[in-house]
Amino acid sequence: MPYFIFIDEMVINLLNLFFPRVCLGCSAYLGDNEAYICTSCRHQLPLTNFHLDGSETLKNVFYGRVNLEQATALLHFSKRGIVQQLMHNLKYRGQQKVGVFLGKWLGEELKTIDGYQDVDVVIPVPLHKSKLRRRGYNQVARFGQEIANALEIEFNTKVLQKTKATKTQVFKNRFLRSSANSATFSISENQTLKGKHILLVDDIVTTGSTIESCANALMDIKGIKISVATMAITD
Ligand SMILES: [Zn+2]
Repeated sequence: MPYFIFIDEMVINLLNLFFPRVCLGCSAYLGDNEAYICTSCRHQLPLTNFHLDGSETLKNVFYGRVNLEQATALLHFSKRGIVQQLMHNLKYRGQQKVGVFLGKWLGEELKTIDGYQDVDVVIPVPLHKSKLRRRGYNQVARFGQEIANALEIEFNTKVLQKTKATKTQVFKNRFLRSSANSATFSISENQTLKGKHILLVDDIVTTGSTIESCANALMDIKGIKISVATMAITD
């Protein structure tokens, strides 16, 4: 028995030598008892606690635009912070485990909260297929999958699609962005999700226009209820 443990440790040490486990927040080497991010980054994570405190901060972003059941974000996003580093690793460095990490975290919390108990299905904000081909993955997919696992419900990437590729719209104001996005998303069918409570997941909410146009597309499904969970919110 000790012999096998020794082999295990040797393999792990070799793996660490060639593929060092580093913190997804600050790139420091991780200790044996650390996963995804180091203890220091973990303590500095700017958690919103919206869902734990019953805060409607994110819900209010959509006030007068989309009627949401629940809305929460795990983290506050700020430029040059740990969260920006996490998002950069997730979107541009192929580090899909950022999504796993954040999804597990938020999923564990949501499964203890009443308002999320009747959610039936998790749907990620989709990428246009040309973007998906370029990046190779939807950066929200693992996040959504982990939340669905925690809530023990379906994860659905089929129903909602992005039908029009949009350029980054940094220079447009909120009104123009909303109108530009209005016909960007569509649903492939509207029978299986009839009367269901959908949890729409995304990476960062800023103006909320992407989620708004996804919600508008989903509203074509009869009797649908929509909640939102994101990795982060821009303050
Ligand atoms: Zn760190």
